[in-house]
Amino acid sequence: MKTFQKQQFIKSFSSKNKPAYTINIGETFIVETMDCYGGAITSPNQLRTEINLDYINPATGPIYINDIHPGDTLCVEILDIQLDEFGVMVLYPGMGPLGHLVQQTDTRIFQVSDGKVKFNDSIHLPIKPMVGVIGTAPLNAEVLCESPGDHGGNMDTKHITVGSKIYLPVFHEGGLLALGDLHAAMGDGELNGSGVEIGGKVTMNASKINDSIPMPIVETAESYMIISSESTLEQAANKGMEAAVHLFEKKLSITFNDAYRLLSAVCDLQISQIVNPLVTVRIVIPKEIISNIF
Ligand code: CA
Ligand code: CA
Repeated sequence: MKTFQKQQFIKSFSSKNKPAYTINIGETFIVETMDCYGGAITSPNQLRTEINLDYINPATGPIYINDIHPGDTLCVEILDIQLDEFGVMVLYPGMGPLGHLVQQTDTRIFQVSDGKVKFNDSIHLPIKPMVGVIGTAPLNAEVLCESPGDHGGNMDTKHITVGSKIYLPVFHEGGLLALGDLHAAMGDGELNGSGVEIGGKVTMNASKINDSIPMPIVETAESYMIISSESTLEQAANKGMEAAVHLFEKKLSITFNDAYRLLSAVCDLQISQIVNPLVTVRIVIPKEIISNIF
């Protein structure tokens, strides 16, 4: 099995990036990733405000997938996530929604072992590994790895984890997949602007769907989640809802009004993150309504 090393990474998603690696449809491969600080913070003495970071959220890749073309959908199934031995959480005045209340700049390094994040002597959090950044080259322009969008990117969606399938739009030949920004734990919203930031290795499998989607979709055992990112929660919710309604009209052969009713009757609106340049929500469609969206 191929292992793609973290030294090949991108700072922004763009069709101009030259492929670093190549795989075939159906191939299983391992991707090493740095944490969102590029591994620059390894001790509590290193403060986020004093470290000169050239980039944030380096994403390993791009990975060119043979025989995948614009208009296809790339399906990436996450088979395993192995995390490094410690995670980082920084804080500084101004960081996140409560940044005005932060008076002290500090860095915490947490040991991550035995299935736990050792937050302190008495608080041990269960490890819930997830991939914060995963995407393809966007249709236009370049998008910094710190931002989400219709190409994926910094979606910070905790369901992007082992056992899930991530469907990504393909806008350019080969798709140009890249990923990084693993978290050992993160709640919905990513409320202070950071998860337990960590590097690691992700084992995944790539397949192709001969159909297009307007924005990323995550499939779990129970549901399909349309992942929508926009400037405000309202805009993100509306864009995701419209995509869900169109999916119902097309796949269930029902009218707009019935699709809109179904949306209200069965779908959940959930928040992935509120701290990135665009915010991200999920429209959750239970599989009892649509067992297969493709
Ligand atoms: Ca992130
Ligand atoms: Ca992160």
